[in-house]
Amino acid sequence: MVPFIVAFVLAYTWGVLGISLGYHRGLSHRSFKLPRPLEYFFVIGAYLVFEGGPIFWVASHRLHHRYSDLPGDPHSPKDGVWHSILGWMSKPVVKIDEDQYKTICPDLFRDPLYLWLHAGGKGRDGYLCLAINVAYRAALFALFGPYFLLGNLAGSVGAFIAPLMVNSICHMPRFGYQNFSTPDLSQNVWFVALASFGEGWHNNHHEFPQSARHGMKPWELDFSYSVLSTLEKLGIARNVRLPKIALGTRTLEPLTVDEKEVLPEPDAADLLTAPKSQESKSEIGELAESRS
Ligand SMILES: [Zn+2]
Ligand SMILES: [Zn+2]
Repeated sequence: MVPFIVAFVLAYTWGVLGISLGYHRGLSHRSFKLPRPLEYFFVIGAYLVFEGGPIFWVASHRLHHRYSDLPGDPHSPKDGVWHSILGWMSKPVVKIDEDQYKTICPDLFRDPLYLWLHAGGKGRDGYLCLAINVAYRAALFALFGPYFLLGNLAGSVGAFIAPLMVNSICHMPRFGYQNFSTPDLSQNVWFVALASFGEGWHNNHHEFPQSARHGMKPWELDFSYSVLSTLEKLGIARNVRLPKIALGTRTLEPLTVDEKEVLPEPDAADLLTAPKSQESKSEIGELAESRS
């Protein structure tokens, strides 16, 4: 039983932090900077819970912010609940071709590891991810035995489910609440936030996509940010982006435009997740293929 529990906790923690601090807040939004080996550590944590390659994940997510709950959003529940959970991967309504990947994620194409994991795209990245995940678990079985493998599998499946809940439940108004009246359906959902280490404060996140912190009210626990904040205090994480907001106070007033502009200037990649406007949407309108 001990090997099962140890493997479960390790797989779940590494996987969920990998998705949150690796794929999401790190690569997709560039909310902070980490030394490259530590960035890879988190990214690999996500990769080893079947999240697919970083370029696929980040491109899908940047489009999600650009077209939240509008045509062009890869996984809005407006296209069906099942679609927002898993159907968007097996039967996508938004198809991204290679040229579009390069336009959406130029930063990731410059990184040799992320480029290699992309495997030229066209579905090969998904097969590579599956093969590496199977080989990884064969190695775990050989080294630590069947109970460790089972614990790892259970923890990995749990971590895999966390972002699926964010994509679906956190865009369904009946499950949560909004601190900000964003133009999309994003919600803060406490049980998703607990399971996903803070990612479920999704309405806050849609209001401030580049903020490293997603939990904003005092009771909105954000374990991923706690980890990041510790890394920052240790001098390991740098350029941690936060909105100029009275974090920790009891009230959370909607911010003025001036306050939002206190966020550091985004680089080219971040422009894809900048606050939405019809003008900027049309600039990359060709990036989202029309729905089938
Ligand atoms: Zn969302
Ligand atoms: Zn995001």
